Amino acid sequence: MNLDNPVRGEIYWANLEPVKGSEQGRSRPVLIISNNLMNNSAPIVLFIPMTRAEEKVKAGPFNISYELNQLVLIEDAIDYLRQNGYYFAPSNGVFLCNQVRAASKQRLFKRIGKVSDRMLIKKIENALIHSFAFDACEKCGIPLRTDGLVCIKCNTQYRFKCINCGCIQSISHNFCYNCGKGVRE
Ligand SMILES: [Zn+2]
Ligand SMILES: [Zn+2]
Repeated sequence: MNLDNPVRGEIYWANLEPVKGSEQGRSRPVLIISNNLMNNSAPIVLFIPMTRAEEKVKAGPFNISYELNQLVLIEDAIDYLRQNGYYFAPSNGVFLCNQVRAASKQRLFKRIGKVSDRMLIKKIENALIHSFAFDACEKCGIPLRTDGLVCIKCNTQYRFKCINCGCIQSISHNFCYNCGKGVRE
């Protein structure tokens, strides 16, 4: 068990099944997504399972791909995993944002790094919003695509693309949260 509390945005190696011997197949990297107030005070954390790019994952607004250079990995921790019989392949992969889980902090075996790319975090947050349907078309009730500008059914516009940096955001914003310029297409 780790002495420090996990921090939102950190990546841990987690044991997801009841520990019986060393069930390696049931352990994997996860991204901590619960807020830090909860992370500091509750025995439970919320996290998103991660998977390697080679494992076949359906394309979808809830599966967010990442590249290795968007993470900061702790090499000593990767070595530690290897010494304990776990294999973490440093490679590109996918955050499975429709498979958010809650689990005891005791399932967090080792901190192995964090997501360093702020735009990637934003994408993950959008995928969570989509997964939970917190952002759905007011007319149709269907979840809005995280990267779509309009409702795919009724065509009502909900987002715009910043002409300065290209990021996509809600039309309720008057300026781009990423680059700060007041521009929209
Ligand atoms: Zn609609
Ligand atoms: Zn921008």
